[in-house]
Amino acid sequence: MQVLDLCFNTNLVLFKKICYHKLKKDYIMLRALDMNSEEFKTEKEKTEKFVNKVVESKGWKFNEDKEIVDTIIMGLTRNKILYGKRFCPCFMVEEVDGKFKSTDDRICPCKPAIEDEIPNKGMCHCGIFIKGDN
Ligand code: SF4
Repeated sequence: MQVLDLCFNTNLVLFKKICYHKLKKDYIMLRALDMNSEEFKTEKEKTEKFVNKVVESKGWKFNEDKEIVDTIIMGLTRNKILYGKRFCPCFMVEEVDGKFKSTDDRICPCKPAIEDEIPNKGMCHCGIFIKGDN
């Protein structure tokens, strides 16, 4: 229930957008997702290590807005638990022929971010990663 509460109470437009698109389809699954569970905490730690590795290996930086970074980390954690992969939290995930797929095939760090968004626009679609100094 805490994820739902977060969806309804947060001031973050981004997270509301994410939740809005997913609420209908994932309602039952969301209810079962306990953000205070050991499973969620452990997976969140893994996601934090993962995003740190991404930043390091790509020469990117994190957005200075910590709320955005935290929100996306939560979304990636959630998707990993629900779907088994770190699908982008800003795009729909659908089941196609028994497999989960995201719109635009966005698995973090996604191809559009690597090839276009970060080099040309300075940040990925979700805004967690931004262009490095080099
Ligand atoms: S836009 Fe791409 S790089 Fe950014 S969080 Fe989503 S999947 Fe990751």
